[in-house]
Amino acid sequence: MMDPVVSLAPEFEACLEPGAAPVRLASGFQFVEGPVWAPAFGGLIFSDIPADRMYLWRETDGLTVFREPSRHANGNTVDAAGCLLTCEQGARRVTRTAPDGRITVLADAFQGKRLNSPNDIAVRRRDGSVWFSDPPYGIPPEAQEQPAQQVFRLDPDGTLTVVAADFEKPNGLCFSPDEEFLYISDTFDRHHHIRRFRVRPDRSLAGGEVFAVIAPGKPDGFRVDAAGRIWTSSGEGIWCLAPDGRLLGKILIPESPSNCAFGGTDDRTLFITARSGLYAIRVGAVG
Ligand code: MG
Repeated sequence: MMDPVVSLAPEFEACLEPGAAPVRLASGFQFVEGPVWAPAFGGLIFSDIPADRMYLWRETDGLTVFREPSRHANGNTVDAAGCLLTCEQGARRVTRTAPDGRITVLADAFQGKRLNSPNDIAVRRRDGSVWFSDPPYGIPPEAQEQPAQQVFRLDPDGTLTVVAADFEKPNGLCFSPDEEFLYISDTFDRHHHIRRFRVRPDRSLAGGEVFAVIAPGKPDGFRVDAAGRIWTSSGEGIWCLAPDGRLLGKILIPESPSNCAFGGTDDRTLFITARSGLYAIRVGAVG
């Protein structure tokens, strides 16, 4: 059997625990996405989009249904208060769930028109802004109300601003550790790349050059670790990229991943959502 860990640079070995290999924690899903470690809820939350269900996986007792129906939830993250932020693809909105279960709609329209299909989401901790992508996945072309495939910034006062509109299919997004840069993927068939933007002091975006091209597969979702390395989905598993874009190594997964997230009580597990399975591998890097 092929070694599931493929090291392409010496520093990659230090990114994983010695002897680490991916394990499957749960299976039987339709298409899982949006993993996030959510301590206030007790573990890892993730979405099974077509099943219209969200799950909670705990280290102690495994898997339970977290929400059903989930309005075809996709990407998830947590904010500084520990609340769960969710892109509800089916309801075409972004919500916040407090640890007590109360749900608040954060955004569902822009300039009087419904959002397309919020997909993935990230919080900029230093100012509490919420950034999300709004591609047209899951809705028919005639149902699109927004004029472009946009990325939005939602400020704490509720103001919604377009920060990027030159994507075909904006998808995953994640900040660098210093939050000076925002990475956004485009999963349109001709692109399959991650772009890198600088966040200006007024929180508009500059730059946007292609940082990495992912092939085979798509950079649907990805996370940045404390050292600024990007851990992204690809067709063959998870790719780990250096902050300068070099491919450091790969974790091969039997199913194509959609996304990953650091978590566990010591923050040293990388959880991976991949089609019908939830996988995990122990890492040396801290999320
Ligand atoms: Mg996505």
